[in-house]
Amino acid sequence: MPKKNFRAASALVAVTTGCALLLTACGQDSEGGSQEKKDKKDVTIGIAMPTKSSERWIADGRNMTASLKKAGFATTLQYGEDDPDQQVAQIENMITQGVDALVVAAINGEALSNVLQQAADADIPVISYDRLILGSPHVDYYASFDNEKVGELQATYIVDKLGLKDGAKKGPFNIELFAGSNDDNNTKYFFNGAMKVLKPYFDKKQLVVRSKQTRLNQVTTLRWDGGTAQKRMDDLLTSSYSTARVDAVLSPYDGISIGILSALKSDDYGSKAKPLPVVTGQDAEVASVKSIIAGQQTQTVYKDTRALAEVAANMVTAVLNGKKPEINDDSTYNNGKKVVPAYLLNPVSVDKSNYRKVLVDSGYINAKELG
Ligand code: BGC
Repeated sequence: MPKKNFRAASALVAVTTGCALLLTACGQDSEGGSQEKKDKKDVTIGIAMPTKSSERWIADGRNMTASLKKAGFATTLQYGEDDPDQQVAQIENMITQGVDALVVAAINGEALSNVLQQAADADIPVISYDRLILGSPHVDYYASFDNEKVGELQATYIVDKLGLKDGAKKGPFNIELFAGSNDDNNTKYFFNGAMKVLKPYFDKKQLVVRSKQTRLNQVTTLRWDGGTAQKRMDDLLTSSYSTARVDAVLSPYDGISIGILSALKSDDYGSKAKPLPVVTGQDAEVASVKSIIAGQQTQTVYKDTRALAEVAANMVTAVLNGKKPEINDDSTYNNGKKVVPAYLLNPVSVDKSNYRKVLVDSGYINAKELG
């Protein structure tokens, strides 16, 4: 039997009989070379996450581990601390340790081709988690959210909040644009989704970017860093807003929003005379939800990482059983080598009016954490 099929068949036994931890005791001891693996009593999934500096990825690691454990797998979890080389080394290590599958949320989507080749040579299937891994044919499935919709939700919120739909005469309003890290494939989906919604209002001059920084490569934020965003917002306020006021800021991620808000507050925004602009976000991180409740950040986009982990765990289970996982998109995510079959979850816009229902009632955030 080819190695890949054998690996799948061996895992199939583990998963379908619930004997993942006790293969020998379950009588599966006749496969010669596999004996050693089976005697180790586990099928282990390597999980590579990008950073612990953001709450969402801590939750992703926790949820992914829990979902895989529930499915009967052992797990090993590593965080690359936003250093692409460190993430490559961690994945290499997992391959050497003989993991049976990999779930990877990439730091730099283009930096994993070599290590994924090593995974392929060892017949280890790879699930790309949340962020698409680029430039490698060895990505089996992609579990994520509808990333373009995230940007659409942020931009639609701005349009609604400024009342731009109320009539072509509404405005002009000043807006500044921020995007995520240029090495994260999601960045352009978020940005393009937002720009699609905002474009008609730029065309009608109801929205104006005074800094004129409107191209993606002018507005990205390396590694999604809040401090970098704060610095850029400081610079924008100095260069373009000495006499004008900013009415909205498109921010792609809560950590960036917090940085932007710090810059705004240092420039006296937040007073009656100078109200804070509409500031969007993403991930429903506790600090940002608190900020929303306090009337500072205006909106965030909630993505249920518990559901994402379930989707990815189901993909792992299916692949190791030699089955096709459920997917709902087979056209959007071309990674340069192949269109990666994907399951995309639905993001939800959250503000002060619905945070309780969406985040607290669903158990995503404990009311106590919000003070
Ligand atoms: C994720 C976002 C997150 C960002 C920064 C993106 O790839 O999809 O949910 O806000 O990374 O961590």
